[in-house]
Amino acid sequence: MIRKLIAGNWKMNLNPVESETLIKNIVQKIEKKFFDKVDVLICPTYVALEIAARMISGTGIKLGAQNLHYENDGAYTGEISASILKAIGCEYVIIGHSERRKYLHEKNDIINKKIKKAIEFELKPILCVGETFEEREDEIYEGVVEDQLKEGLFEMTDEQIKKVIIAYEPVWAIGTGLNATPTQASDMHAFIGKIVSKLFGDEIANELPILYGGSVNEKNASQILSACGIDGALVGGASLLANEFAEIVKAAYEI
Ligand code: PEP
Repeated sequence: MIRKLIAGNWKMNLNPVESETLIKNIVQKIEKKFFDKVDVLICPTYVALEIAARMISGTGIKLGAQNLHYENDGAYTGEISASILKAIGCEYVIIGHSERRKYLHEKNDIINKKIKKAIEFELKPILCVGETFEEREDEIYEGVVEDQLKEGLFEMTDEQIKKVIIAYEPVWAIGTGLNATPTQASDMHAFIGKIVSKLFGDEIANELPILYGGSVNEKNASQILSACGIDGALVGGASLLANEFAEIVKAAYEI
């Protein structure tokens, strides 16, 4: 059985002082026993990573970044490398979030390079896939997600793919308050499993964690997380509120 993972994506929110306050509250509110069954991850801004690493040390909470560059180092102004993230204490990195695909025009081939670089530096990549509202309306959403998977996971070995986590995040559900129904999410998780199985075989597909993301909050977490094939949640807005985030972790624990 795959352990549940609850990951908080803080996006471009909170300065270092505000981050410190949130981390303090999260640490206080997440009960120790939850870690028996649930992995808890926070992904603050780059400037708060070091503070976060220090504050969560020994708590069971894990650290991740929201992006990385696919080169080792060099003249890439404004970017951050896998080795820097690793040195700070990151274990995970979100890759291909729909906001980066939309606003920074990140394409599947670049995402593929980033995933491989993350794995090379022993960071666990969380690959985000998902369709827009129009793509769902036009009933082409399966094809869209299939392409994101095929191209995002292009030419990866079995050993590499075993390190990957997928987050199914329908774009129409991100930050909108419109979450996918448990059935919609379950159906897409099954579809993702089918594609991964076609690409890498059943054994790998069965072990691949697939998170759901899109307006998960303390009220809907239990229903979404107990749906078939959902191994956790990537949480945006609600991860900025310690109470809500802790309630989502609790919901995952209680399933
Ligand atoms: C996200 O940022 O990945 C996300 C799912 O955001 P929200 O929970 O706010 O919809």
